Amino acid sequence: MHFYILSLATAKSTYAEFELVDRPQRAEPPKCVACGARLSNLRRLPPHRYRLKHGNHPGDLLTDGMDIAVSTRFVESYSVSGLSGLEFSDTTIELCNTALAYYMASPVCTYTLLDESASGIAINNFRGCDKCRAMSIKSIDRVVLREETWLGEDIFRTANLFGEILTSQRFVDFVYSNKFTNFQFIGQQDYHVDFGI
Ligand SMILES: [Zn+2]
Repeated sequence: MHFYILSLATAKSTYAEFELVDRPQRAEPPKCVACGARLSNLRRLPPHRYRLKHGNHPGDLLTDGMDIAVSTRFVESYSVSGLSGLEFSDTTIELCNTALAYYMASPVCTYTLLDESASGIAINNFRGCDKCRAMSIKSIDRVVLREETWLGEDIFRTANLFGEILTSQRFVDFVYSNKFTNFQFIGQQDYHVDFGI
């Protein structure tokens, strides 16, 4: 199985992205059943109020680097795709400078683990346990998953690679075959980050 990281750094995209209009209420994310560590960032609660940053031609994916929203046509196709891992907001978000409709999309938090040695991880702060391996990293050379810990989700988060969204090959194929725009995927071998800390 080949995995990808969904790039949330699409600031150079020609498509519009969004930003918060005001500071939302936040709620605790899911926590590790074994140690209580947070498995993702705090969750933003509705109402979801955003504005587009550039232009009025938004793609099918909007991100502000933390969270993502997707177009109505993405939601409709995804719901009959057989893919798993995404939950959508009950109502469309408030997007103040367009009439287009978007939904917040939340990838499931999982206990999928990296092979930390093969991934070349340098740990900054380990705050989890052997089940979740919640941590922040100094640097990583590539993404290698311990596939026996992956339960088959097509788009998901893991506290072991905190803040990132991972996808399966099937999810990438789904995006390309439907020509959804503004998605950028980084192959697992091509993902490297050095925070320089
Ligand atoms: Zn834990």
